[in-house]
Amino acid sequence: MIAKSIQDMLDEKQAGFLIPGDKVASVQEDNPLTHAFLLLTKVRYSKIPVLDGESHLLGLLTMPMITDKMIELNDISDKPLQRLVVKDVMQTQFDTVRADADLDDVLHFMVDNPFVPMVDQDNVFKGILTRREMMKAFNYIAHNLEHDYDVIKKVPEETN
Ligand code: AMP
Repeated sequence: MIAKSIQDMLDEKQAGFLIPGDKVASVQEDNPLTHAFLLLTKVRYSKIPVLDGESHLLGLLTMPMITDKMIELNDISDKPLQRLVVKDVMQTQFDTVRADADLDDVLHFMVDNPFVPMVDQDNVFKGILTRREMMKAFNYIAHNLEHDYDVIKKVPEETN
């Protein structure tokens, strides 16, 4: 369980954690893989969300999911990318959180994932919570905790 003082300080910053959906690079499930390849190359993010036409979150896409299809026996070819679409290769099993998620859960997801997508009750994509934003929040707490709270160590320091 997260200490109340930390939780309160994070709550003050909570709105700032979310990178809203309209600022997140994403692809549509029916986009050709050629398009996704170019987009991932340009944005330089390792993983991006896959949406349908009504902004429902359907999957996640990485460059290796695409390049895996380009590998032939002794060569690489872009031909498969012309006939495949994003939903043919995307990852469909992944964690999501809602706006009212426990910070505990969010932090656990972030141990294994660079970001966690946020959706509403209808699975409409709302944005992402990233490790970078969490690190900024941690930095904020590290600098302000003793300004806002009296922090007293319970166990006396050992004397040498
Ligand atoms: P960061 O913690 O900022 O390095 O972000 C971690 C991961 O979140 C990145 O590698 C991307 O996969 C994803 N990400 C961050 N910002 C964006 C964005 N604006 N659009 C799409 N994906 C993003």
